[in-house]
Amino acid sequence: MPAINAIEKDFNLLANNQKLLARKAGGKFTIATLGSHCSLQLLKGAKDEGFRTLLVCEKRRLGLYRRFRFIDEIIEVDNFKEVLSDKCQKRLKQANSVMIPHGTLISQMRSDEIEKIDTPIFGNKWILRWEADRKLKEKLMKEAGLRIPRTVKSKDDISGLCIVKLHGAAGGRGYYLAWSRESFEEGARRLIDQKMIRGEDDLYIQEFVRGVPVYLQYFYSPISAEIELLGIDRRYESDIDGIGRIPAKQQLGAGVEPSYNVIGNIPLVLRESLLDEVYKMGENFVRAAERLVPPGMTGPFCLEGVYDSEGRFTTFEFSARIVAGTNLYLDGSPYSGLLYVDPMSMGRRIAREVKIANKNGKMSKILT
Ligand code: ATP
Repeated sequence: MPAINAIEKDFNLLANNQKLLARKAGGKFTIATLGSHCSLQLLKGAKDEGFRTLLVCEKRRLGLYRRFRFIDEIIEVDNFKEVLSDKCQKRLKQANSVMIPHGTLISQMRSDEIEKIDTPIFGNKWILRWEADRKLKEKLMKEAGLRIPRTVKSKDDISGLCIVKLHGAAGGRGYYLAWSRESFEEGARRLIDQKMIRGEDDLYIQEFVRGVPVYLQYFYSPISAEIELLGIDRRYESDIDGIGRIPAKQQLGAGVEPSYNVIGNIPLVLRESLLDEVYKMGENFVRAAERLVPPGMTGPFCLEGVYDSEGRFTTFEFSARIVAGTNLYLDGSPYSGLLYVDPMSMGRRIAREVKIANKNGKMSKILT
């Protein structure tokens, strides 16, 4: 990982380039993203804010994305990795694009590849490495003072219920529960057979937190220096959320093995008495990111965790970019409605930030 002062140097250089770029193009930007995850929401929001829109789209998905009139231009690729190619980067630059990163970019590309992308990226691209790397992720969550689940160092230290995870953003794919060395090994063997991992070292063991999972969707503006809670959701995961439909007797007989594969998202509102702490956690996270990963946590992010029976939140993950759960709120959410008159999706909020930054000559504050 590059040292922090090297990152800062790179960041300052990039920031100056961004300023020049914006001036040269008369301030006209195109909002671009990869065709997947939350791209419809992002480009619809960009169009609502008056931007030109561009989608980098895999050929196999053209049929879907050609249906939507708010997409002005499509760059066709065989594979998302082609976004790194000179040809693709050239076109993105010509269009004066601001690229919005999302979960597909993180899952399809390595951190060093993302960091090398030439097109200006909305937010802090350096923090995406902290999302992808379990150790860095834990460091940032600790720095933010968040309550986090215990990491179990080895299969021999398993005591009590644990959740076993794969590295990277996989939308819960392959996760399983273990309560002993044997149950851990059994699950690992299954994943090796399915070629999802090479060995047990590819797995990460964490204390399983009992309660209800909640995903808190924030936006931080470095221009107004304010944090906004724009939505809350929970995931609908197969087949852990379907297992309750099978009575206990049949579950035991069928030897059910739950999985955590995200299929969709369900809207949620919290008890109002919990909101003050939600804001405080978000603010602490932003301050910690400023200290550890300059320029900090710009734009959308998500704290992902579990509320226990005492109403305490334990954060098991964060996403340092827009999450797919925001797709629920294309027309705004019960929380964005408290802050904006316009129906404000996360995608539209990002586009609005680009607009405000551009108008005030502050593009360097929101791009890397
Ligand atoms: P993404 O990166 O796309 O957000 P992911 O692969 O990192 O997804 P997680 O969000 O970490 O997946 O977890 C998937 C699911 O596993 C969660 O929705 C939650 O139900 C469960 N889960 C994860 N960690 C814990 C934990 N420590 N205790 C209880 N449940 C957990």
